[in-house]
Amino acid sequence: MAKSLDDLPPRAALVEIAHDFHARGWMAGTAGNLSAREDGHFWITASGKPKGRLEEKDFLLVRITDGKVIERAQAGNEPSAETAIHCAIYALFPEARACLHGHSVSACLAAERAKPKAESLRLPPLEMIKGFDIWERHPKVNLPLFDNALDVGKIAQAVRQRFGKTPPEVTAMMVRGHGATVWGSGVQQAYDRFEILDFLLRYCARAR
Ligand SMILES: [Zn+2]
Repeated sequence: MAKSLDDLPPRAALVEIAHDFHARGWMAGTAGNLSAREDGHFWITASGKPKGRLEEKDFLLVRITDGKVIERAQAGNEPSAETAIHCAIYALFPEARACLHGHSVSACLAAERAKPKAESLRLPPLEMIKGFDIWERHPKVNLPLFDNALDVGKIAQAVRQRFGKTPPEVTAMMVRGHGATVWGSGVQQAYDRFEILDFLLRYCARAR
């Protein structure tokens, strides 16, 4: 096994993450999508592929500027509607090299703890928050919350509008009743931070 996910070719690293997230209940069935940047493009999981059985041919190469499909690892691969959110993240944050989106029970339960109109969820000030490179004694860190929409383009638009004005305090966001998205300076960092965010959200969901 590679020491770091960054030592693997991007698609191989994402396949490993898909199997891991599926086993942990964060990518049930075909849910969620994973991507890694390559210059002005990113490889992203194709729509409708079971994540527990994902393979390196189940990807598409998409252009960041307009979401155009540049290459299909296999004929017939179609982009997920959620590709628009990955486009937004890569366009907004040049340092983002990987972006992971999963659907977890703890993320949905934690988001319900926030007021219905709240634009963010306060993360618990636990030691684990250091994983987001926050080194304060009593950190008050907010996770951006977005409303879910059937038209994912609307979520992507809201992400561009809000983050274009105010970048988030953590490299993560949550869509209510849907799931979390985490990005990082590499595939390994994005993976670690997704795991840490899940820990924090599980704590939120269970805390009285
Ligand atoms: Zn989703």
